[in-house]
Amino acid sequence: MAKKAVIIGAGIGGLSLAMRLQARGFDTTVVDKLDKPGGRAYVREQDGFTFDMGPTVLTVPHFIEELFALERGDDGLSDNDFPPELLGDDVRIREGNSGGPRTSEYVNIRPILPFYRIYFDDQTYFDYNGDHESTIEQIHAIEPRDVEGYHKFHAAARAVFERGFLELGYTYFGSVSSMISVVPDLFRLDAVRNLFRFTSKYFISDKLRQVFSFETLLVGGNPLAVPAIYSMIHFVEKTWGIHYAMGGTGALIKGMVKKFEELGGTLILNEEVSKIETADKQGNPAKGWFTTRYAKGVTLGSGTFLPADVVASNADWAHTYMDLVDKKDRFWNNKPRAKLSKYSMSLVVIYFGFKKTDVPLDLQHHNIILGPRYEALLNEIFEKKILSKDFSQYLHIPTLTDPQLAPEGCHSAYTLIPVPHNGSGLDWSTIGPGFVDKILQFLDDRGYIPGLMDRLVTKSFITPDYFEGRLNSLYGNAFGLEPVLRQSAWFRPHNRSEDIANLYMVGANAQPGAGTPSVMMSAKMTARCVAEDHPDVQVSLDESTVAAAK
Ligand SMILES: Cc1cc2nc3c(=O)[nH]c(=O)nc-3n(C[C@H](O)[C@H](O)[C@H](O)COP(=O)(O)OP(=O)(O)OC[C@H]3O[C@@H](n4cnc5c(N)ncnc54)[C@H](O)[C@@H]3O)c2cc1C
Repeated sequence: MAKKAVIIGAGIGGLSLAMRLQARGFDTTVVDKLDKPGGRAYVREQDGFTFDMGPTVLTVPHFIEELFALERGDDGLSDNDFPPELLGDDVRIREGNSGGPRTSEYVNIRPILPFYRIYFDDQTYFDYNGDHESTIEQIHAIEPRDVEGYHKFHAAARAVFERGFLELGYTYFGSVSSMISVVPDLFRLDAVRNLFRFTSKYFISDKLRQVFSFETLLVGGNPLAVPAIYSMIHFVEKTWGIHYAMGGTGALIKGMVKKFEELGGTLILNEEVSKIETADKQGNPAKGWFTTRYAKGVTLGSGTFLPADVVASNADWAHTYMDLVDKKDRFWNNKPRAKLSKYSMSLVVIYFGFKKTDVPLDLQHHNIILGPRYEALLNEIFEKKILSKDFSQYLHIPTLTDPQLAPEGCHSAYTLIPVPHNGSGLDWSTIGPGFVDKILQFLDDRGYIPGLMDRLVTKSFITPDYFEGRLNSLYGNAFGLEPVLRQSAWFRPHNRSEDIANLYMVGANAQPGAGTPSVMMSAKMTARCVAEDHPDVQVSLDESTVAAAK
């Protein structure tokens, strides 16, 4: 009988791991408390509008292609992570549809240009599109002396990308020695300094310092605190572009579920896992430091026990260990550590639909609207945890690419505003509605969406309470543990539990971190740990074809 794997959570990381384990030969079940899969990539349907609630910027399309190329008996785990044809000196943004031969059977993925329009508070803007000439021209218009700085920044970010992403991106830091071995590289590349300082070394202009450091906010990182290793994001985007799934990110989730079910996996929705069950380790082969216990399955809120040989959690790290694991089974993943850990900021996200007029919007698919203050605002969000009077936001208008997300004559949009997590003590049930009106009024008053308040057709919003209550994320963090140096690589929760054999973590809280490409990487890294621990599970393509024929 096939060994069983149970995955807690149907986020992008959980589903990616499920596809890989099912392809390898495990009989895999994914359980999620929500009524739809996707986790942070849940889709909200409202008054005829479709809103992706979370990720909208898709990068590294070949990570998606890898998943749709899986077959029962072909888990792709031993394949080259970055095949040579994907690399080279040229920018490799794909023309037309991307996605590879199998992907297009499930989802239609397209590149988006510009990547982002970044508005400054004086309402001038920078269209960041990865094109070298246009980037240089725009930098020159803002600060001619920064053109030379950009060349140096570009070279430094490239070196970080090559070592940090292409060579080490898939390294699982499961031991101290694996971490120590890369420390000299981090210093050589100047990648331990914080990203904003790193950027400031190359640019004089405040505007350009912001343009080349804001991106980590999209994965929950404070540019003033994340290590400069994150400058690689600039190069990841430049190399493979920014992409969009037609129909929204929800269409990607639907495609992933379809593929998983075709491979033979099972998805259970509307069921919350209440406990990870363990037993004494009795000659169990799976690895785990100091482990005396092994995971034997999960109990659902309804009382049902699902037995498993492998349990993986895609849920928040603190929720997994503090709420689902018995106290006696935790040693490394303990309460003091959960208390001392730093959690990413949270968000208010407003989902709104509005009528089109004869005047087309002067906006792009992805818009960053920066406020008057950058460093001070970031400090208030991440460190002081207060709600500032000013704000920055990311305004997403997918109907500029994909009109099917709104009724005829309307746009669908969301705007996302970073705010402190619930360690702030702010009462969002009281301040939420006023805050939301202030943001929408701002978009109207400043002319980003002229007359918005009169054109609004529908609106709803989420606050940190959504992340805390609905997604079980401690303090309502929106992106998991904050990606500061002391919570990266070996210091980040381990994909293979140190406390319980056969228990694994996958997704934003595990290595390498948050963001859609990272959680897909995390799934591959976790699947490799599982494969190493369970070498007996490996169906061959031949066996699975024979089984299918029976
Ligand atoms: C608004 C927003 C915008 C973003 N934009 C981008 C972007 O543009 N690009 C990008 O790359 N990244 C973006 N991100 C980050 C990215 O979305 C996340 O890092 C990623 O989707 C997290 O995936 P995950 O696999 O870790 O799981 P999650 O999506 O966090 O899913 C975890 C799942 O576990 C379930 N769960 C929790 N506890 C239990 C339990 N006890 N029992 C059963 N189920 C449980 C939850 O219901 C949830 O479905 C964004 C995030 C947010 C919030």
